[in-house]
Amino acid sequence: MDLHIFFLPFVAPGHTIPMVDLARIFAARGAKSTVVATLGNLPLIRPILDLTIPFPSAESGLPDSFDNLLAFPTPDVMPQISAAIELLQLPFVDLIRQHRPRCVISDVHFPWARDVLGVPRFAFHGTGCFPHVVLGAALISFRSAHSVASRDDEPFVVPGLPHHVELTRSRLPDFLISPNESLIRMGEGLGKTDGMVMNSFYDLEPDYIDLLKRSGSMKVWHVGPVLVCNRDIKHKAVRSGAASVGYDDILNWLDGKKAGSVIYVCFGSIGRFTVAQLQEIALGLENSEHPFIWVVRYDGDLSELLPAGFGERKKGMVINGWAPQLLILNHASVGGFVTHCGWNSLLEGASAGVPMITWPLFAEQFVNEKLIVDVLRIGIAIGADKCCSRTEERAVVAAEEVRKAVENLMGGGEEADGRRERAREIGEKAKRAAEEGGSSYSEVSSLIEHLRTLKMN
Ligand code: UDP
Repeated sequence: MDLHIFFLPFVAPGHTIPMVDLARIFAARGAKSTVVATLGNLPLIRPILDLTIPFPSAESGLPDSFDNLLAFPTPDVMPQISAAIELLQLPFVDLIRQHRPRCVISDVHFPWARDVLGVPRFAFHGTGCFPHVVLGAALISFRSAHSVASRDDEPFVVPGLPHHVELTRSRLPDFLISPNESLIRMGEGLGKTDGMVMNSFYDLEPDYIDLLKRSGSMKVWHVGPVLVCNRDIKHKAVRSGAASVGYDDILNWLDGKKAGSVIYVCFGSIGRFTVAQLQEIALGLENSEHPFIWVVRYDGDLSELLPAGFGERKKGMVINGWAPQLLILNHASVGGFVTHCGWNSLLEGASAGVPMITWPLFAEQFVNEKLIVDVLRIGIAIGADKCCSRTEERAVVAAEEVRKAVENLMGGGEEADGRRERAREIGEKAKRAAEEGGSSYSEVSSLIEHLRTLKMN
């Protein structure tokens, strides 16, 4: 009998893109994969479009046809998004009734998916084991009688970890310190799933994968980096939907640059900055010795905020909108990545074997930074110190800091060479993990085996 799996991604690119890859991986291994999505998310799903359900925008107080976080310039819409997610349950249950899949792999943001007509549910976490374990350990220490730090900016060592991981409360996400109701529900939903599917590979975070698996709280499979299913240029180019600049133009530009000389700068799908910060980034990149590709998300006329003559000097390529990130990172001319440390970007940089400048903004990104900088030692931190989605609340990083970090990362010397070599090795290991016989390949086999033995209630 067919192994039919329903995949239910959350409505943000950082969640939908890897879920689509995951569905493709299972399809390539003989399963029937169905991705369930709302209409506005189709561009991210284009190669394997399956079932759509209407997004309840009006019912949840959102503008019509805005059904992805990408559409919103501020984080203030989360309550409405959460309300809409609740309302998606009924149409989803209808689809389950019609198609009777063997199981559902859903994003952790759908707590109700744990109990849909008795169909087993596996949670796709979207992040790796390191942030999961570190945030869990930080939470326990907050709740203990000997509270870890009295001030928000006071460093504390997260207890009980295989590595020395130092954080401050200001670098931790709100959802850890004061979780709202929908996050509490999400946590409860996670506790009742049939297992957790992680987008990670063993050599990236062996200690943390072992810790999570041994904790015994639930079954865990690490099946990543799922991005490796995009093997050829075309798949890499279209993987995350239409880019704002034609990919031929980008490739031609990159082809004209020396191997490893270009720094790629992108802050994920929803990372935004104040005008003052954008100006500092522009100046810092221009003042560095290295050509750059800078992905900006700015709604106004970008030329008005860039330094005079910025475009004419042609030191870099600016993409205002959306870039084919996977394609760019895997071009031989790219030798470094300034990243906000979203889990997908971390995996994409690590798999491409490039060292990184870490510039976390919100969510668990400051924890991911620790994995890049302190554990894997393939990056340097720009020095951001406040975890928050509101652009105006973050301290501005000066142009000179940006320039220095780029020179440091891309330059020569023992430290920079060591970092580059370690990054290259991680990239090799990422590719091997997904090949037949590799750790993630075997985990997919084991998960398929497990799914085949499952019975529906
Ligand atoms: N991405 C892209 N082009 C862009 C910006 C982002 O392809 O211009 C992709 C990126 O490759 C990654 C995802 O969007 O797969 C962003 O996920 P991540 O976890 O890095 O960050 P988030 O957007 O969730 O903060």
